[in-house]
Order: sequence, then structure tokens, then C-alpha cells
Amino acid sequence: MENFIVSARRYRPASFDTVVGQPSITSTLRNAIMGHQLAQAYLFCGPRGVGKTTCARIFAKTINCMNLKENAEPCNECESCKSFDSGRSLNIHELDAASNNGVDDIRDLVEQVRILPQIGKYSVYIIDEVHMLSKSAFNAFLKTLEEPPAHAIFILATTEKHQILPTILSRCQIYDFNRMKVSDTVEHLKYIAAKEEVTAEEEALDVIAQKADGAMRDALSIFDQIVAFCGKHLTYAKVIENLNVLDYDYYFKFTSLFYEGNIAESMLLLNEIYEKGFDAIHLVSDLSKHFRNLLVAKDTITVQLLEVSASIKERYVKQAAECSITFLYEALKIAEQCEMQYKSRIEKRLCVELALIKLCQINELIEKKKV
Ligand SMILES: [Zn+2]
Repeated sequence: MENFIVSARRYRPASFDTVVGQPSITSTLRNAIMGHQLAQAYLFCGPRGVGKTTCARIFAKTINCMNLKENAEPCNECESCKSFDSGRSLNIHELDAASNNGVDDIRDLVEQVRILPQIGKYSVYIIDEVHMLSKSAFNAFLKTLEEPPAHAIFILATTEKHQILPTILSRCQIYDFNRMKVSDTVEHLKYIAAKEEVTAEEEALDVIAQKADGAMRDALSIFDQIVAFCGKHLTYAKVIENLNVLDYDYYFKFTSLFYEGNIAESMLLLNEIYEKGFDAIHLVSDLSKHFRNLLVAKDTITVQLLEVSASIKERYVKQAAECSITFLYEALKIAEQCEMQYKSRIEKRLCVELALIKLCQINELIEKKKV
């Protein structure tokens, strides 16, 4: 059997122009390299799986390339580039502070910092999850950060910027990475699907991107998991079944029923969901999201905040046009209330059913107030 390499690793970008979803960061880094204005310490902040370590590696590779191209992309041919690509470069040192957070780990690193690089100009030290370093480790590191040797560049990465000490913050150039947009994730998944000769419905990739919630690494591992399970053709139906996600259709159906005030049909639909084995609290929180999306879709200015694929966006815009704003506000309130009460209630199902009844009564109440 051919060796299986997970997509997140196989398709890890190797140059700035292939990094997904962080155009302002890659162009700033590129400009700094072209202008020979390198800082000695960088802090990469942002949620997990958005490319912080990847950018750090590309940066290290690029500044050590011996025949750097005019656009600040590495040549991929020189000795340094080759050693980076094969993962055996001596110019890059990575410390995962999540598992090596003691003062001894930092002392080892500080020892290494003094050694001059063999090939290339710079040694790059990447400290991942830097907020996890113990206080004494932080202190041991601070000195090196204050007076680093000229060949050393530090890239600190963190998901928790607020936990970084001001003494560290003030010594670093800070880059804030964006959460990955659903559309960026979908585009990248399309690219990988094509490479892997997998055909996929756009809605299928959209569900994967939603589930990954802004982290590309998660999106890719979900993609792998589903391909392993379903084969080379990903349909929306297969993906929602595999991820145990409730079909979008349900939310659109529910909303129509609420708007018409159809209590009986809403109850039957809820029953159907229970019988499928879905947890009702997810239904309620997803209904909240659905109402929020409808509110956003109602206005041509805010519609761009909808993070869904084009075909689903159309459905949102259509349903939003059919609902009044007052209805959507009230619906959102009821769903939120139900979510808050759900945990403390013993009769969970009753709690959800009551919410559905209230949702079905919104328009009736609005009418009464008018009279
Ligand atoms: Zn090179």
C-alpha cells in the first residue's frame, strides 16, 4: 500500500505565494525581506491552524536562500532550499513550548543560539505556543531576546496573545494572523481535491470548512477522513452524514413553519431530528446561527458577512426577503433563551418544544400588537 501522507503535510505551502488566507502578512514579510529590513524577533499571533508555523518556516527558508528571486520567493534549488524542503536544514530550530516549557528546555535553546549557521546567513528559532513557557523559562529567554547574536532570528507563535508578557511584546514585531474565511478554505480544498483527483460538490466542501471553524489544518484532516470513508466522490449528503451535521434544509424548513405559525408540523420535524439521533441543543444553537444569517442576509451591506458558499447564500437571501426583521429579532431572542435554560432543565425535550411553540407564535403576537 502506498504511504499515506496527510493532506495538511503533503500540501503545506512552501513559498509565500501559496499561503492561503493571509495576504497582508505574506506581503509584509516579503517586503521586509526585499528591503533587507529584518527584525530579530517576531510574534505571530492568531487562532490555531491558520498558518503561523508554516509562515515561520517559509520565512526561515526564504531568508537563507542563496539565489533569492526578485519577488522574494526562494529558488528551491540551492543547497539551503533543498535542505529545508527535505526537512533536514540546520538553520531552523523548532521548540514546542506546549510540551517543553521548562527552564532547561530554554537553556538548551539559548546554548544553541550562540552557534553560527553552517550554510546560509540566519538561524531561525521558532517557539510554538510561546505563552506556555513557565515564568522562569520566560525569564531565562528574555536575556537572549534582548541581545540576540546577529545571525539569530526568533519567531514566537501563540494562540493567546493576551498571555504574553509586555517585556516580550515590546521586543517583537507583531503579526496578527486572520482566522481562515470559509471561502478561502473552500477554495483551498477545491485545489487539493483536484490534485488528489477527488470530485466534490461545493456544498460538501462548504460543510467541511464550516466544521473546521477557521482552521485550515482541521479542514484538511476532516477532508482526509471523509475521503478515506467515502472514496473519491464527495457529495453533500455523504459529508453531512459522516460529520453528523444536520442538513441545512431543516433550518430553512423550520423557519418557514415558524413564520406560518405551524406548530404541528414543527413538532413533527423536531421528532424526525430526534429519531435521527441528533442532540436537540445543537439544533437550537444552529437555529440561532440560522436566524443570525437571515438577519445578515436581509441587508445588502451586511450580506457579505455570510460565510457560506454561493448556492446557500442565495437561499439565505431568498428566505430573508420573506421574513420581517421583527420576526427575526424575536426568533433570535427565543432561541438564545432556550439555549440558556437548556442546561438547567430536566425536561430537555419539553424545553425545546416550548421554544418551537413560541417561535410559531411570533407573527401572531406581532399582529395583535398592531391591532
Ligand atoms: Zn534557494
